[in-house]
Parts: sequence; structure tokens; C-alpha cells
Amino acid sequence: MKNSLTHYAKKRNFKKTSEPKPTIKKAAKAFLHFCVQEHKASHLHYDFRLEHKGILLSWAIPKGPSMDPKTKRLAVKVEDHPLSYLDFEGEIPKGNYGAGSVLVWDIGYYEPLDDVKIGLKKGHLKFILQGEKLVGIFSLIKLKNASDNWLLIKSSDDV
Ligand code: MN
Repeated sequence: MKNSLTHYAKKRNFKKTSEPKPTIKKAAKAFLHFCVQEHKASHLHYDFRLEHKGILLSWAIPKGPSMDPKTKRLAVKVEDHPLSYLDFEGEIPKGNYGAGSVLVWDIGYYEPLDDVKIGLKKGHLKFILQGEKLVGIFSLIKLKNASDNWLLIKSSDDV
């Protein structure tokens, strides 16, 4: 089989040299970012954001995420945000959209367990969060007949 290490392999007898064998390793997983921002707007809520294709998919969670698998939290899908919003903190001035303070509540990496694009269409995303506060497998499940309402649920099938 021809690959980018074919030339390297041809020139060497690996029974006689201790040089590394011409194995192509699978690329390291590219971890994606997630964050949760505490947003003290007209109503306190927590904005949950997942990096996806250069933007942040976003949900507003009125009560904030829970680490308890028995506690399902309403997550309202909101507009995509720019990736640079990930660590945004500050005061949105009065009279502006979302006026109030924004603080990073949690930030870290996530790994989708299913294809994100398909998951968005199907209304079911499953992923591993690796944050400071949120750690483990979570699902976002879209509620039927309610286009923007999802539930964020911690899976019990992990420790
Ligand atoms: Mn918000």
C-alpha cells in the first residue's frame, strides 16, 4: 500500500535497523472549546456555548447546568456567537441587547460523541465536557414541537 511513508519504508530494512517503523498514527483528537457564561441580564441565566465550525452554538439556560443526572435543565437555543465570545467578560451597557454583566462560569474542552451537524438536525447532541465545574457526558435533547427548547442532561453512565 502506498502512502506518504512509502519512500521511507523502501529505503530501510526494519529487521536490521532500530529506526521507527513506518506507521502513520491517527491524528490526535482536536478538542473543541465550550464555555458557560453567567449572564446577569434582566433575568439571570447561564449561556452554554459549544464550538462548532468556527462559531459558538449557544443555549441560554435559566437555572444553569446541573451535574446531577436527575436534574434536567431547560436550555433555550439562541443565536450563534463568534468564537471569540468564549472568554468574554464584561458589562453590556444599559439600553443594549443583553444589558448586564457577563462572567465566565466555566470554560474548557468538549468532545462530541456523535456528529454535531446531524445532531443539531435530529435534536440530540451528546458530548463529553472537560471543564472546571462541568465534567463528564452530557446530552442536549430538543423538545418536540418547541423549536428552540432543549434540555441539558448529565448522563449517569459515567463517573
Ligand atoms: Mn445571555
